[in-house]
Amino acid sequence: MRKNKTYHKKKTAVIFLFCVLILFGLIGRLVYLMIFQSDYYAKKADELHERERDIKAARGKIIDAKGTILAANKTVCTISVIHSQIAEPQKVMDMLVKELKITPEEAKKRVEKVSSIERVKTNVEKEIGDRIRGYGFTGVKVDEDFKRYYPYDTLASKVLGFTGADNQGIIGLEVRYEEELKGVNGKILTTTDARGVELNGIGEKRIEPIAGYDLYLSLDRNIQEYAQQEAMRVMEQKEAQAVSILLLNPQNGEIYACVNVPEFDLNHPFELGDDADEGSLTEKELQERLNQMWRNRCINDTYEPGSTFKIITASAGLESGVVTMEDNFSCPGFRVVEDRRIHCARRTGHGSETFVQGVENSCNPVFIDVALRMGVGEYYDYFQKFGLLQKTGIDLPGEASTIMHKEENIGLVELATMAFGQSFQITPVQLAATASSLINGGERIIPHFGVSIRDSDGVVIKEYKYEKGKRILSEETSEKMRYALEMVVKEGGGKNGQVEGYRIGGKTATSQTLPRSANKYISSFLGFAPADDPVVLGVCIIYDPQGIYYGGTIAAPVIRNIFANILPYLGIEKTTQNTPQDGNV
Ligand SMILES: [Zn+2]
Repeated sequence: MRKNKTYHKKKTAVIFLFCVLILFGLIGRLVYLMIFQSDYYAKKADELHERERDIKAARGKIIDAKGTILAANKTVCTISVIHSQIAEPQKVMDMLVKELKITPEEAKKRVEKVSSIERVKTNVEKEIGDRIRGYGFTGVKVDEDFKRYYPYDTLASKVLGFTGADNQGIIGLEVRYEEELKGVNGKILTTTDARGVELNGIGEKRIEPIAGYDLYLSLDRNIQEYAQQEAMRVMEQKEAQAVSILLLNPQNGEIYACVNVPEFDLNHPFELGDDADEGSLTEKELQERLNQMWRNRCINDTYEPGSTFKIITASAGLESGVVTMEDNFSCPGFRVVEDRRIHCARRTGHGSETFVQGVENSCNPVFIDVALRMGVGEYYDYFQKFGLLQKTGIDLPGEASTIMHKEENIGLVELATMAFGQSFQITPVQLAATASSLINGGERIIPHFGVSIRDSDGVVIKEYKYEKGKRILSEETSEKMRYALEMVVKEGGGKNGQVEGYRIGGKTATSQTLPRSANKYISSFLGFAPADDPVVLGVCIIYDPQGIYYGGTIAAPVIRNIFANILPYLGIEKTTQNTPQDGNV
């Protein structure tokens, strides 16, 4: 029994030792494989399902206020070849040359390239893609893809923007709403062996793409189209360099139209206009010309506003209490400020006038007096309070900032010139947003295009709420401003802005660009209607017109024509009471 027990113990020990040795051997092998051979196995595993193609997601559409599609997608194809699967290389090459209009050398290069998948051409018309699929050659892949398409070509080109070859937004709303519009690409995973041959029975695995969301705008195609035609008409008639028009709802900041002629063709955004000799330009010059062509002057550029800015000075003066509507002024045709003699537009002078008449006459000395009564500190405070030193927050990229003196550098001469809109620069959209806020009852609005984001079934995903911002002017002063500006159109320099049957408020401007010696002008008009309860505010700016250049003569009729056309469209009925009653304010 005892001997037997000892034997048993020995046997157990031998088995144990044997097991340990095996275990060490296995661990060693495993360690060897993991450490020294890991690359090899990783590669082997990858090769089993290495081939992967993107399925492009459909980009969301851009849709106007009435449901008209302004940006959509067109189906196009991407043609690729897989070297290892091609059975008849010569036939494939001949077919590619014939269908894709590529050179035989190019076709040969693609077909003979040893890679898992080689792209031959993108953006191929669907019809051609279908024909290529019809040949039934092995090793030739036809994948459907999307290309951005703009049904109205030049309409609102600088607002909508366009996308690049990878379907990513390059300028405009296409950039601003990239995240919402882009969607999520899908994938086709093809399982193959190490030689690139598809494994039977496994085939293709698809991860379906998720379409982008649609963007709904306040912009109205009909209003945009009409405003764009008017802008083109006046640009050609006045041989002007450019014309910009902005139309928005002054109560909530919704933009109806934003025009910057010359516009460009969104379906061919990399082609300069007819008169450009693209071949003679260097790559850098060409890019500069394109950037210039794509600029949205309403938002990306600043200008000296001139007399339309008197709306801001008048509001600040009335609100601060340094002036009342009935105050008397006298204009001999100039004011002397420090050592400077600053002229009125009417060199012979306006004589004796009330403040309201001063606004009607756009009389510089009246506004100089108001600003001087306020002083630099208070005037600058209003400039800031009205929001002129901040961006408007419009939902487009590249909004330019106000170019303004530092407060400590403003002397009385600078103050006097600021009062009538000179010696600083703002964007047209800043002028429109600030004037809207001053005449809408006194609350700051944010100009914007985006209203909602919806899925392809029209279900609302996100609504953009632009609540009225902070109060910048009292309701009382705002009402006085509406009255004074209605008088400008009724009795003063804005008479060409009158529309029969409607009450219109407005202000004209004519400013000389720098350097003054060049004798170049910017003519503009800012109007709103109906004057007692505005639903539309419009700004028209004509850059470098030839011949007569007065804003009241050439810009006011543009806004008049647009208002006459769109007020009935917006559902505003004509009124018999088309002038303010005496003693209204
Ligand atoms: Zn005057």
